[in-house]
Amino acid sequence: MWSVLLLAIAVTYFITQPQPLRQERITYPAQPVPRIVLPSPIPIPEKTSEQKIKEGAQIFERLMGESDPFFIGNKYYPPFGIAWLRGIVEANKKGELLITPVTTFPGASSTLMASGYNGQKMEIEISLLKLWGFVNVDYPVTKYDSRVAKHTFMNGMVHEALHLRGQKKEFFDFSENSTDTQRVYEERLKEELRVWPIMIINVIRPLRVVGQPLNNDDIEADGILRGCKDDPSCPLFVEFIKKRFRDPYQK
Ligand SMILES: [Zn+2]
Repeated sequence: MWSVLLLAIAVTYFITQPQPLRQERITYPAQPVPRIVLPSPIPIPEKTSEQKIKEGAQIFERLMGESDPFFIGNKYYPPFGIAWLRGIVEANKKGELLITPVTTFPGASSTLMASGYNGQKMEIEISLLKLWGFVNVDYPVTKYDSRVAKHTFMNGMVHEALHLRGQKKEFFDFSENSTDTQRVYEERLKEELRVWPIMIINVIRPLRVVGQPLNNDDIEADGILRGCKDDPSCPLFVEFIKKRFRDPYQK
């Protein structure tokens, strides 16, 4: 086998060499050189948006189930986060808070969740396309721990609930309807700078301490705030939040 292979290499080498002007006659071996046929890769067809939304809806249902704050298996989740998740479940049951999957956020495809008001009711919206991308592209379960998606989902819900409870309806109405995009950006940035440190100190960091896996953004945010000695007005931290938050306001 080796001799045949070596011979094949030698023949290939000989044939691919620039031909000399006066060509020698090549004597081919009597035995035919075996041809190795490699299977050609079968391209995986790109999924349509409809398929992604359908799968995103299944992921949403699964993560809603896994995030249940009354489930004994979630006892490791920080008490602060459990309390807020319970508050979400209760408010949802009472009909005060809607949890609504949407296909995507117009102009903000990288946004996973958003909060606001739907009439008089509070609402947390979750992008199914982003959720699909998160699980299949950003953090595929084959490469990452599936708990990354679960924790991102749980943390996202708590984060949005902090916005909803920390601000009046007027804030959300203003940020949705005002044409003064610069002021909306500044107000929302201030609000993110308020909520992120609460999340980091009470949820993200305690999860890291017990070795629970998190997404890269959360890990980076914790590292930066730690480097800033937990001072959220520190320029490095402000810059990090700005970078993450720019998307919806990019023109
Ligand atoms: Zn936020």
